[in-house]
Amino acid sequence: NHTVLVSRSGGERVIADSGSPIRDSEGKVIGVVLVFRDITERRLAEEALKRVSRQNELILDAAGEGIFGLDLNGNHTFVNPAAAKMLGYEPDELIGKHSHSTWHHTKTDGTPYPEQECPIYSAFKDSAVHHREDEVFWKKDHTSFNVTYTSTPIIDNEKLVGAVVTFRDITEHRLAEEALRKSEEEYRSLFEESKDVVFISTPEGRFIDINKAGVELFGYSSKKELIEADIEKNLYVHLGYRKELLKILDEQGYVKDYELLMKNIKGDILIVLETATAFRDETGCLTLYRGILRNITHQRKLEQQLMQAQKMEAVGQLAGGIAHDFNNFLTAIIGYGSMLQMGMEKDNPLTPHVQQILSSAERAANLTKQLLIFSRQQIIDPRPVRINEIIFAIEKLLSRLIGEDIELKLTLSPGNPTIRADICQIEQVLMNLATNARDAMPNGGKLMIKTESVVMDDKFMMTCGCGKEGQYVVVTVSDTGEGMDEKTRERIFEPFFTTKEVGKGTGLGLAIIYGIVKQHNGCINVYSEPGEGTSFRIYLPLIEDKVEDRIVSGQPDAIGGTETVLLTEDDSEVRQMVSGLLADFGYTVIEAVDGEDAVEKFREHKDNIHLVILDVIMPKKNGKEAYREVALMKPGIKVIFESGYPADVIRRKGIIEEGVEFISKPFAPSELLKTIRKVLQQ
Ligand code: ADP
Ligand code: MG
Repeated sequence: NHTVLVSRSGGERVIADSGSPIRDSEGKVIGVVLVFRDITERRLAEEALKRVSRQNELILDAAGEGIFGLDLNGNHTFVNPAAAKMLGYEPDELIGKHSHSTWHHTKTDGTPYPEQECPIYSAFKDSAVHHREDEVFWKKDHTSFNVTYTSTPIIDNEKLVGAVVTFRDITEHRLAEEALRKSEEEYRSLFEESKDVVFISTPEGRFIDINKAGVELFGYSSKKELIEADIEKNLYVHLGYRKELLKILDEQGYVKDYELLMKNIKGDILIVLETATAFRDETGCLTLYRGILRNITHQRKLEQQLMQAQKMEAVGQLAGGIAHDFNNFLTAIIGYGSMLQMGMEKDNPLTPHVQQILSSAERAANLTKQLLIFSRQQIIDPRPVRINEIIFAIEKLLSRLIGEDIELKLTLSPGNPTIRADICQIEQVLMNLATNARDAMPNGGKLMIKTESVVMDDKFMMTCGCGKEGQYVVVTVSDTGEGMDEKTRERIFEPFFTTKEVGKGTGLGLAIIYGIVKQHNGCINVYSEPGEGTSFRIYLPLIEDKVEDRIVSGQPDAIGGTETVLLTEDDSEVRQMVSGLLADFGYTVIEAVDGEDAVEKFREHKDNIHLVILDVIMPKKNGKEAYREVALMKPGIKVIFESGYPADVIRRKGIIEEGVEFISKPFAPSELLKTIRKVLQQ
């Protein structure tokens, strides 16, 4: 019996009482012995124990983790609800069952899991805690799930009695991890595969990370090598540029398409656009920059070339326009001057003045001719020629030109390549280049001319801003002279650009070369640095044609004739001059003022006319149209075209064909007379 008594102090005590009767000798109960025991302490201990085990139960029930106990045979001693649920069993179903063979029998890859390898049971062998994160448990329905588990040995009184296993289903976690890894991979490849350079850098000037495009752009052999580089020192062209950029980044937080000059490992200049953002920590301190770089070097080059080409085109048009009008005046000046001279007695005291006029006019004519060459308004006479032969033929002349202090060295391509060119013009190119080289080497040096055949791809021809891909002959003319800086280099092809003192240079040499090369469908580049010499490279399209033998015809002397000539010329001054000249030399001249008039006059006098002189470009009807009509009336009629107008335009428009006689204004009278005789005697 338990009795609760209240002690004098007020505390409750639990008393266990037992009584036994006291009997006399006859067995009669005469009293009772009562024994009281205070069991309060024991009761408390028991209740505490009960409470603990209830608490444990609660904990086990509430735990989200699977928890179970194993005896030394590997059989379940207890299983919490979470464990049972995850494995798909009722807790009772598992108690006493062998754990390994129930839900740990097969490995992740589907192969059997030998019991002796089971880390859960290893706890029995070494009394140590075992933890795994990469295995699966098998459910009652034979499906599996990813788990992380810990097997902890239970030691009671220094004796191993079993193990407690806790585990968690990490399938979700695995999926999330996988998704994260995938998304990271995607961003990584976005970063790595970007054709623009993507980087993260520090304010101190190091890359933290940079993609493949960056390693390629800067020409480093690996990302590691580039990360070790000092951005400002190794990649910027000008020290201080970076500070400027960082200042803007600092103030604005970002930059967009900021143009920078950078360099690759070889020192080649790169023009890049940077777009970047600055990142700060909580204290507002700049910690890093993230951004992209876009290489626009090639694009810029093309733009510059286009601008250069457009400038040259505009200058050419201007120069050509002036030269053309100027030519008409010169034709009149030279014509009248010549007539004046012819009409004078040898001892006339005014003869020297006339001569002076004529020679000045000749020089002026020469100048306008050069301008016309530059503006590609000169008719050229291209034919298949061997470039080596042209060079070889004027080797002596070039040697004499450059003087004894300069050594001339030819390295001619063994293939003897053929191009389609006007020999005289190619000779002029070489002579102009040699003259410049001589001027650049006042103390002597070396002039080298080299030819080689090359195949140019599209990309190269694009960068050099001209022509199509294909086979070219490259003529390289290099000297060991003073070279030139960028400012000079940019302008050398402009007409009248010269760095030489007045009277020494006209600034037309390279302008003419430029015009000639362009007219030959070629292109020209210059490589030069101050003090490093200069090298011009001229690309001319290679052709397959056979080289015709050069015909050297005997020139007839300047003489007159008695034939009738129809002279068409819209410029009345020029017309009168030529007409007078021809009349002086015995010809009968019929004048026409334009193409239409020419056809009219021809119809009237067609039986008498032996030769028609037509200006190529005239009002109303151009030379070709007039010629066509005239030739219909009298097939085989002889013709000479003349013009100071853009010759390549004329050729392009098919106004005059090759083989048709052409005389360019201004012409010397003897030249015209010779040509007339030549044509009439054909
Ligand atoms: P000019 O010779 O009359 O000055 P050019 O058109 O031939 O005119 O040349 C223009 C300028 O280009 C020269 O004044 C010179 O500054 C520069 N130049 C041309 N060729 C060379 C060269 N081989 N070396 C150095 N500078 C050169
Ligand atoms: Mg020159």
